[in-house]
Amino acid sequence: MSEGGKIILVTGGTGLVGRAIQNVIESNKNENEKWVFVGSKDADLCNKKSTEKLFEKHKPTHVIHLAAMVGGLFHNMAHNLDFLRKNIHMNDNVLQSAHENNVVKVISCLSTCIFPDKTTYPIDESMIHNGPPHPSNYGYSFAKRLIDIQNRGYYEQYGRIYTSIVPCNVFGPNDNFHPNASHVIPGLMRRLYDLIKDGNTEDKVFTILGSGKPLRQFIYSLDLAKLIIWVLREYNSVEPIILSVDESQEVTISQVAETIAQAFNFKGKLVYDTSAADGQYKKTASNAKLRKYLPDFQFTPFNEAIKDTVDWYIQNYDQARN
Ligand code: NDP
Repeated sequence: MSEGGKIILVTGGTGLVGRAIQNVIESNKNENEKWVFVGSKDADLCNKKSTEKLFEKHKPTHVIHLAAMVGGLFHNMAHNLDFLRKNIHMNDNVLQSAHENNVVKVISCLSTCIFPDKTTYPIDESMIHNGPPHPSNYGYSFAKRLIDIQNRGYYEQYGRIYTSIVPCNVFGPNDNFHPNASHVIPGLMRRLYDLIKDGNTEDKVFTILGSGKPLRQFIYSLDLAKLIIWVLREYNSVEPIILSVDESQEVTISQVAETIAQAFNFKGKLVYDTSAADGQYKKTASNAKLRKYLPDFQFTPFNEAIKDTVDWYIQNYDQARN
């Protein structure tokens, strides 16, 4: 790396999004940049001392802060307090250590699922704080919203450009496929694969929790990684920016289940368990701000990205987070 170059520390570098950035940066290297990817084995970011040591060791000039306690609807509902406290601790430790170590830019991660429950659609960057989040994930949501408040504080008091990105639902290789703690796509992949591993026959019944009717936007982790690298290199504002597929690319959960079933070449029948919770009916986000900067960005078609992820999962089942 040349003098005056960037040292980019990626927290959560071992997770779904972190690994996607590692993958994309391999073919998009910039002489001027040194990338350091860290996970929980490198430092416990809930602990300030451990976080400080990490910053002392790597001396980053830039931070992409992805580390978080993350989970799907049912995991959130059962552990709201843990989601609130762990994420508040991690975010405060990373942002304050970045400030103390003169880091010039921090990009932290919010999510479209932290927006107000009662709102108008599509949601945009100006609406984050306009009302309480859905009760199912209030802990995660309030912790994430505080990042934006804190970023504004660092700007007001110290002129720092610490910003945030707001991805919609992410999926891809290296996701968490744990049956009780995963998001909808990896959760469905895991359960379907378990059902057919020992025989993909016509009498098999695949049960999907909920009505299948809720609408969601999903971004492929490799597309998100490209956009995060663009934010690092080109986007210089404290204001959050939504990183989502277009509104026209929103899909129902039943479309998701069918696409996954096709990718596995599932021969049996899909059934919906309508006694299970659906969560928010929709959370349609507008990517108009992103499109102003990158009107021509091509998102990977949903069925292609699902097929790639299923193929990865089958090949890597033994090492995947199950
Ligand atoms: P993952 O669950 O895949 O990865 C979480 C990462 O955080 C891992 O690298 C993990 O390390 C690290 N981590 C967790 N706890 C600690 C800790 N105490 N100290 C240090 N590191 C820790 O998350 P994703 O890649 O899915 O998410 C990345 C970011 O994107 C998060 O901020 C999330 O809120 C946000 N986001 C995710 C969405 C999604 O659909 N997945 C949607 C919108 C936003 P280790 O591997 O060692 O456990």
